[in-house]
Amino acid sequence: MATTTPEGSHVLGEATLAELREQVLGPVITPRDPGYDKARRTWNHVTGRHPALIVRCSGVADVISAVGFARSEGLPVTVRGGAHSVAGLSACDGGVVVDLSQMNAVQVDQRRGRVLAQGGATWRRLDHETQAHGLATPGGRVSSTGIGGFTLGGGIGHLLRKYGLACDNLLAAEMVTADGALVRASAEENTDLFWALRGGGGNLGVVTLFELELHRVGPTILGGVTYYPGAQAAQVLAGWRDVTADAPDELTTLVNLTTAQPAPGLPSDMHATKVAALVTCWAGPQDDGLEAVRPLRALGTPLADLLTPMPYLTLQQLVDPLWGPGAANYFTSAFIDELPDAAIQMFAEAHQRSAGPPVACELHIHQLGGAMARVAPGASAFSQRHSPFLVNCITRTPTTDGFAAHRAWARGTRDAMAQFGAGRAYVNFTGEDDHDNTRASYPTQIQARLTAVKQRYDPGNLFRCIHNIPPALPPA
Ligand SMILES: Cc1cc2nc3c(=O)[nH]c(=O)nc-3n(C[C@H](O)[C@H](O)[C@H](O)COP(=O)(O)OP(=O)(O)OC[C@H]3O[C@@H](n4cnc5c(N)ncnc54)[C@H](O)[C@@H]3O)c2cc1C
Repeated sequence: MATTTPEGSHVLGEATLAELREQVLGPVITPRDPGYDKARRTWNHVTGRHPALIVRCSGVADVISAVGFARSEGLPVTVRGGAHSVAGLSACDGGVVVDLSQMNAVQVDQRRGRVLAQGGATWRRLDHETQAHGLATPGGRVSSTGIGGFTLGGGIGHLLRKYGLACDNLLAAEMVTADGALVRASAEENTDLFWALRGGGGNLGVVTLFELELHRVGPTILGGVTYYPGAQAAQVLAGWRDVTADAPDELTTLVNLTTAQPAPGLPSDMHATKVAALVTCWAGPQDDGLEAVRPLRALGTPLADLLTPMPYLTLQQLVDPLWGPGAANYFTSAFIDELPDAAIQMFAEAHQRSAGPPVACELHIHQLGGAMARVAPGASAFSQRHSPFLVNCITRTPTTDGFAAHRAWARGTRDAMAQFGAGRAYVNFTGEDDHDNTRASYPTQIQARLTAVKQRYDPGNLFRCIHNIPPALPPA
């Protein structure tokens, strides 16, 4: 039985908890337990939610028990994969966190060209296993990110143009539903669920197993960062736009308008100066790559050119030290269909106005297209297939001091993109947790289809703490 404190948080009776502890092998952590404060934390410290309990599941059986417990107690459920939700949605006030961090096993099936990964695995672990065979599936640019939230929301990374989004490589998934059943979704089974899991952003149940397609990648690829002075940001962006317009699929790039932080290979006089950093991955034959990236090395006057053959694993972990947990973070994004000179000027000016260390303000302009764009827009819940660019406006402060002002810079830059026809947001780069933002991520027809799938698998909206498409949409 649960009671409610004057602050609104749930206090569960000892007898009720004892019953749950009997049923599961993993630890059950409540506000009365010493480890609670650490266990409730997610990557983004600006969101500090207080769940009623956290069940650190040891396997599928624990997941079924935790979901059943939440249902019988009338508590909402949220799922924690890698805990990197920017809106901090892998914790929820007064709800049950199904924590999958111990369910992180990864197994390569070489014969079938796929990798089987439990729902709580991170990209670091998955890449580690697959690269032992010279194989990879498209993953994230920071290796501590979970494969769970990343894949369910889409998944944009270094191999995007060659092999598509992470969700395009999902071959099958096993999921515990709101009523405690374990179902399998693939191109042959529960096809409505399979459609929704590829970009729908979670919201439907607990995915305990992902099966992802593997490709031959590396172990050495051509990749890294070319740094240009911030004063040349507009020139670099315009040159990059033109050079990459007809690029082969092997090339995936990103321009980051940022402030240089100390990193190996960066001259110390560059630290804390504004830079336009071009991040490149060439996933193809090295000789062709060296030729293809030649113009990218001459977009301005490079301050440092760290684009070089390197292990794929190194590229996947290159910026990890800059993105540890504990800071206050905000992301907001928009897909754009063109990058006119006026938009470039606006980005360059926003870059010049942005705060510097210890604050990190970044504009990531992702090059899309390639394999991602060849999937039909309605083939999966991720439907924003044809925009050539995605812009992510990021603010990161060491603590919450001054956070709101810096977040306003990110929001203001995103809003200014509207004049250039900026379209929908990318659900995985969303710092807000409100319903309107979920709507902004999906076209009306996709929302309607997601609503129907939700109605089938979670009619009571048990999984409502995340970017939520409820079973029946409230009137617009
Ligand atoms: C430092 C950093 C770098 C990033 N880089 C990239 C990038 O390069 N490309 C990109 O596309 N995105 C990137 N992202 C965004 C990232 O994809 C999302 O934050 C994603 O939700 C993280 O997944 P997670 O499992 O770590 O998150 P969690 O916080 O654990 O989960 C996020 C949401 O997904 C749901 N979820 C997670 N796992 C499961 C599961 N097994 N079953 C059901 N639901 C689940 C949860 O309910 C939750 O609401 C980055 C984020 C951060 C913080």
